[in-house]
Parts: sequence; C-alpha cells; structure tokens
Amino acid sequence: MDRPIPFALPDIGPAEIDAVVDTLRSGWLTSGPQVARFETDFAESVGGGVEAVATNSATAGLHLALEALGVGVGDEVILPTWTFTATAEVVRYLGAQPVLVDVDRSTLNLSLERVVEALTPRTRAIIPVHMAGLPVDLRALRNRLGDRDIAVVEDAAHAFPASYGGSSVGSCEFSDACVFSFYANKPITTGEGGMVTTVDEALSDRMRVMRLHGIDRDVFNRYTAAGLSSDYDVVAPGFKYNMPDMAAALGRVQLARSNDLHARRKAIALRYLEAFAELPLDLPDGGYTRAEHAWHLFLIRLRRDAAIDRDGLREGLSALRISSSVHFTPLHQLTYWRETLATSDSDFPVASAESPSVLSLPLFSGMTDDQVERVIAAVKRLVT
Ligand SMILES: *Cc1c(COP(=O)(O)O)cnc(C)c1O
Repeated sequence: MDRPIPFALPDIGPAEIDAVVDTLRSGWLTSGPQVARFETDFAESVGGGVEAVATNSATAGLHLALEALGVGVGDEVILPTWTFTATAEVVRYLGAQPVLVDVDRSTLNLSLERVVEALTPRTRAIIPVHMAGLPVDLRALRNRLGDRDIAVVEDAAHAFPASYGGSSVGSCEFSDACVFSFYANKPITTGEGGMVTTVDEALSDRMRVMRLHGIDRDVFNRYTAAGLSSDYDVVAPGFKYNMPDMAAALGRVQLARSNDLHARRKAIALRYLEAFAELPLDLPDGGYTRAEHAWHLFLIRLRRDAAIDRDGLREGLSALRISSSVHFTPLHQLTYWRETLATSDSDFPVASAESPSVLSLPLFSGMTDDQVERVIAAVKRLVT
C-alpha cells in the first residue's frame, strides 16, 4: 500500500527548531526583538521602502489595514467572490458592506470590468486577492479607478514571494497596504501569523497602535525604556493582534529560505503543467512572462470531456491515498453571505460555472519527485 500524500506540509528544518528553542530560552516570549527583526527583514525582502507590521494572522492584518484607512459604517468594499471568507468578514467587523464581484475565467482573480461596474459613490476600498499566488495586475486596477479616492488593500495570503511586471507583491507600488498570511499551510509559515506592508507611515503607525489595545508604545519598549511601566497612554479601544516572538523567530528562518521553498514549488508546478497538458483539464494560468507566481496552490478544473467529475476525482485520489482540497467555494454560495448579501449564482456567472469543477492538488516544497509522479499518474488514470 502506498504511503499517504498530504495536501500540504509545513517545511520545518533544524534551523527553525533551533530559532524557536533559542527564543523559548531567551526569557522573552511575546512581541519583542524577534518581531522587530522579522519586520525589518520582511520589509527589506519585498523592497519599496515599506514599513512592515507583524500580526497574529492575515485576518487581523486585513482588519487593521481597513480600520487604519478609516473604513466604517456606510462604506462599500469590493472584493472577489472567489476567496476565503476572511477577506469579506473583516469588512463586516467594521460595519461596512462587502460587495462581491465575479472573477476572470483564466486567472480566477477579480475581474477589473466587474469592479468598474460595481463602483458607487460609497465605494471606499477594494481588496484584490492574488488567487493561488498569481498576482492581480494592480497598475491596471489603479488605471480603471482613475483619480477616484479609493483604497486598495491586497489580500496576498497566497502570494509570497511573487511579483507582477517586476513589482514585488508587498512593495505597495499600486496599493495602500498588502497583507500576507503565515498560517500553517501558507508559502512561509509562523504557525499562525501575518504581515502588513505599507509605504504610508500614518497607516503603519495606526496599525501598530491598534494591534496592541490602542496603546501608543509597544510592550517591549515600555519595559526596556528605563523600566517605566506606566509610561503609556491608550488612544483607542484597540485589538490583541500582536505576533509572539517564538512565531517571529520561526518566520525569520522561513523568510531566509523563502526563495528556495518557492523554487521547489515552482518546479513541481511546471512539472504538473507539462504532464497535464494533453488531459481534459483547464490548467492554472502560470503568469508566464508578466508575473512571478508564488505557486501556493495548484488548481485544476475538469473539463466536460473528462472521464470523471470533481467529486469523483477527489474520491479516486483519496482511494489512492492522495489528499486534495477545494479553493474555494465562492462566498456567494455559502449560507451567511448568500443570505445577507441576497445574491445568487446568476450574479456571478463565471465563478458559479467554474466552482463545481475545481480541485487543488498537493503542492508543497517538501514533496518528493516520487510523490509528484504518483499524483501525476493517478490524475492521468482517473480523468482519461
Ligand atoms: C488563509 C487566507 C486568509 C487568512 O489568513 P489567516 O492568516 O489564517 O488569517 C485570508 N485570505 C485568503 C485568501 C486566505 O487563503
């Protein structure tokens, strides 16, 4: 019996383990020197002179970014229906209205035409999602917005490292803020964690205050600057969104390895693309010359002439001990969003048509060549 192939697996080596253990031994566990260095290292790696603000999740980062931009009651925020619920729920946290739009068939990223159609005088922000790690063309998005004062906050949960037209995701050349996830299965991980980048210092200052209770200095400074533990003020009812130092220590090692991890995922994706070229499958848009894809996920879509449907393929793979997953059931098909936004499949013809056929195959840096070939052989056998 073949051994199981997981859908994803964090790539944790001895350097990560040593870094976390050293932090445990250091006596400082919450946000401190490791977080400060992780932020500096991360900002440097995306470039553009950004500030980087570490959080305990991307969801927290999206919330902080929208809050710092002043999104609130009465505002509309446009985002693709093809995403994880976190992208939309943070809009609700602020009492604002999420406005879902359909996606482009080839990329599964939000359709710029649909964004333009969805604009109203209340539109305050747009959250493009770099689906699976393929960046949205943000320059084109900005061009479509003209000189309207609408914020762009990137959901880059899948997109590290990645770039579009030579501009790295996170450098915020065409956006107000960019939010990364370090959840356990994301391209680099801290177990749970996130990072927001921005070139706007007013935004990064506000996010640093709001991620820790609305206190105007962080704990580390407070206890080390002359021991003045009462030397702080509270300026808002903030949140508890800071990253612990164990997580940041892990993140720093992952960041240092990120190009190697990406190179391995890319090699696997290119092998899949080559092996599946003749099958009755729609394969992911690789970005080709315009983008560097992060290859967080590898989404295939079964065509009508395939010998099996998506659920059949999923079961067939499972019987061969190969895990797969679905990214994503569009938000408009999930109960809460369907009911509160009063939308239906006909409002999102592309996402509704594509959603039943999509499946994500195993793709992680620790996959062996044997595992990759087992997945390829299984998919070939099942779909033809
Ligand atoms: C994982 C994910 C998030 C949330 O990330 P967390 O760090 O778990 O909060 C947000 N958006 C998308 C598209 C994701 O896949």
